[in-house]
Amino acid sequence: MATAAAAPEITDEQRAICEMVHQFADEQIIPNAAHYDHEDEFPEPIVEQMRELALFGVTIPEQYGGMGLDLTTYAMIVEELSRGWISISGIVNTHFIGSYLLIKFGTDEQRQKYLPKMATGELRAAFSLSEPELGSDVQAIKTSARKLDDTRYEINGTKMWVTNGLRAALVFVLVRTDPDAEPRHRGMSCFICEKQPGVAENTGAYAGLKVPPQIKKMGYKGVESTELVFDGYRVPAENVLGGEQQGLGKGFSQMMDALELGRVNVAARGVGLAQRALELALRYAQQRRTFGRPIAQHQAIQFKLADMATQVEAARLLTHRAARMKDAGERSDIEAGMAKLFASEAARFCAEESLRIHGGYGYSKEYEIERIYRDAPLLLIGEGTSEIQRMVIGRKLLQRHKL
Ligand SMILES: Cc1cc2nc3c(=O)[nH]c(=O)nc-3n(C[C@H](O)[C@H](O)[C@H](O)COP(=O)(O)OP(=O)(O)OC[C@H]3O[C@@H](n4cnc5c(N)ncnc54)[C@H](O)[C@@H]3O)c2cc1C
Repeated sequence: MATAAAAPEITDEQRAICEMVHQFADEQIIPNAAHYDHEDEFPEPIVEQMRELALFGVTIPEQYGGMGLDLTTYAMIVEELSRGWISISGIVNTHFIGSYLLIKFGTDEQRQKYLPKMATGELRAAFSLSEPELGSDVQAIKTSARKLDDTRYEINGTKMWVTNGLRAALVFVLVRTDPDAEPRHRGMSCFICEKQPGVAENTGAYAGLKVPPQIKKMGYKGVESTELVFDGYRVPAENVLGGEQQGLGKGFSQMMDALELGRVNVAARGVGLAQRALELALRYAQQRRTFGRPIAQHQAIQFKLADMATQVEAARLLTHRAARMKDAGERSDIEAGMAKLFASEAARFCAEESLRIHGGYGYSKEYEIERIYRDAPLLLIGEGTSEIQRMVIGRKLLQRHKL
């Protein structure tokens, strides 16, 4: 079965890492995912093993204790983890975006302070743009930070849908720092907000930040999605990402840069989920018999398998291409958008086709495809919906090919 490790142009190092993570998914994630999904319980033992495998520091430079690997290798790892269960990749993904923000935009002091502990997974990170009244329209953000004195800002407002919002120790939060700025995005800044991990009501230096009970979801269980309620939360001015001098007013462009990377990341999750749906369909189709033969012998089922396998391969190629372009420093906004759009839709398609192939059993919680079918739609929404991807791709195409 062609997974990330069998992709063309893969280096020996990438193959070795992919095979290791593939085995980890087979042995530790897949056999335990049903339990954590059904109980909606955080998979602590799996996360501990991920720390031991150094998976929280994959893209963090070696000087800070990470592996210093590129986006392409990271995307391959995410594919393998998501083939196991997308909630597991969700625990790493927001951390990856946080570390990218620090590596690319952080001051030396900010990098020194956070990256070594992030590389080991001792500190885990989340990122927060969305609010109860907005997700796609990021420029409409209402949560604000106002300067109290020379050294501190105070943040007020409510954030929504923060993945890892409870257990994270750091949240990269986009807020409005200048309500009168024109255009609006120039009045936005990203703050590195420290908090007490696992605590609903922060106290002491972090007072003024509450984490309400996690939102109940149809899928993507085990990893928490929460609101964050900032009510007089005080943050040092030195925690403006990139420093107050350089970083104030730059939050929107910093976050949009990170989201481009995030799109490759979501695309890789789509490939992994679609791959697993295909594997399950291939196996079940050869075991289940109707009308005197395995259903895999019916042409209608073979066509479904063919369409699924084609979509998985195409999604993987688009994802690797976008990642390689980003690694090479090439402009890849269109390619990242295409990869995210295609791979997330491929994941939804493959989950549904595999469920159909499983017949009635696909609807049973005894079967893995039932969870995959509930997990897949998230990928159509996070890091920009399919509609927003089409808007981005269309707009960028017209910019690149302006008459
Ligand atoms: C499980 C989960 C985890 C998440 N994790 C995070 C996280 O960690 N951090 C974070 O900041 N956010 C997170 N999000 C939020 C996510 O990014 C948003 O839900 C997403 O961006 C969509 O925003 P919205 O839900 O407000 O939908 P809306 O923006 O209200 O959109 C509603 C519908 O309208 C469509 N639409 C909107 N504008 C247009 C337009 N101009 N043209 C055509 N159609 C349009 C959308 O595509 C969608 O179909 C998460 C969401 C979920 C469900």
